[in-house]
Amino acid sequence: MNSQIASSQVSPEGHLLIGGVDSVALAKKYGTPLIVYDVGQIRQQIRKFKQVFEEEKTSYAVSYASKAFATIAMYQVAAEEGAYTDVVSAGELYTALKASFPMERVSFHGNNKSRAELEMAVKNHVGKIIIDNFYEIKLLKEVLQENDSHIKVMLRLTPGISAHTHEYDQTGQIDSKFGFDLNSGQAAKALQEVLAEPRMDMVGIHAHIGSQIFELNGFEMAAQKLMQIASSWREKYGYTAKIINVGGGFGIKYVSSDHPLKPEAFVKAIVETIKQEAAKNDYPLPEIDIEPGRSIVGPAGYNLYQVGSRKDVPGLKPYVTVDGGMGDNIRPALYQAEYETVLANNLKAKEEEHVRIAGKYCESGDLLSADAFLPKTKPGDILAMLDTGAYGYSMASNYNRNPRPAVVFAENGHAQVVVKRESLEDLVRLDQSYQED
Ligand code: PLP
Repeated sequence: MNSQIASSQVSPEGHLLIGGVDSVALAKKYGTPLIVYDVGQIRQQIRKFKQVFEEEKTSYAVSYASKAFATIAMYQVAAEEGAYTDVVSAGELYTALKASFPMERVSFHGNNKSRAELEMAVKNHVGKIIIDNFYEIKLLKEVLQENDSHIKVMLRLTPGISAHTHEYDQTGQIDSKFGFDLNSGQAAKALQEVLAEPRMDMVGIHAHIGSQIFELNGFEMAAQKLMQIASSWREKYGYTAKIINVGGGFGIKYVSSDHPLKPEAFVKAIVETIKQEAAKNDYPLPEIDIEPGRSIVGPAGYNLYQVGSRKDVPGLKPYVTVDGGMGDNIRPALYQAEYETVLANNLKAKEEEHVRIAGKYCESGDLLSADAFLPKTKPGDILAMLDTGAYGYSMASNYNRNPRPAVVFAENGHAQVVVKRESLEDLVRLDQSYQED
């Protein structure tokens, strides 16, 4: 049996249990493709990130990077667990508002926030705007003046550290579309501009070095670098950063060759580095913020599919086709992301063939898995892809006019639909017919 499945997740009939609920029964009741989250696991991850901060008695914020999965129910769970959250668009902010997420715990990120988005953030009193560029400083200044308002801001910096990860996921290196560059003096100039603006309360600095990171090293370097910048700014400009935010990017296990560290290990390394740097430079210990996205929701998510057609190709791995694909999870097609898959309706069956799991979309690249080791499957079987909770549903599309799947939250043996399946009617809801004059 797949090593990523705990024995407690196997029902007496050999079905996969998610949050104590039979996944095969869920597939039958709500249809497939279906996205199911084990809510207990989401809570657990948030608690693990918080634990070390609590033990170390440091001021902190675990800010859930909601781009990984942004729905009303998810913001509610994050709020219940005392997490903060990052949003990157009016849509995410609107969803957080609908969830009654406490606005003072929201940070607004993004490298091209529109005036309307900044206005929405200011009017709703979000906790912080994480400023990304000079244009944004100017826009925000105007918006604050027009609304006679004040807001806390941070500066996003590109610290020149690129963590060991997939190329598309790197955002901390110098040649990045995000943030202010340090070496050219951009960051110091931004600081001066923000400090000169009485409506902006400059509370700290931020860096995000990449995604799916497995080593402590990158985070230690980023934390050290941010503390060094903070110290030099204190010396040069008399400015003391109250918050150091080292971003997200904590790696998770997708396949057996991934060996992620525990959330506690990442936090410990970050806290220790910042404490050491603070002691070394006689700097007041700042609040430490982190922004995990994938690591909070990724391992808790499962995509359930029903097996349909099969194509055998002489000498090559067969294609087993399912009723979903790149519309509900674009990551394999977009950057060859890999996942493990299990036969959810018979976990005890012995794996006996390597297959390719094809999606139903009209793209040759629509392969959910290039190599899945599975028992022999038949039409109607239910496959569960594991660890699909991050950047799956949030990047879902209606390509080929397929409705997006429903999302179910399962916890303590109970399941609840938290996002309805789109209907065919939903697909044409915004369409207008065309009449020639
Ligand atoms: N913070 C920022 C600024 C990001 O850009 C991202 C992801 O792109 C995250 C946090 C979350 O990263 P992850 O989901 O890998 O933890």
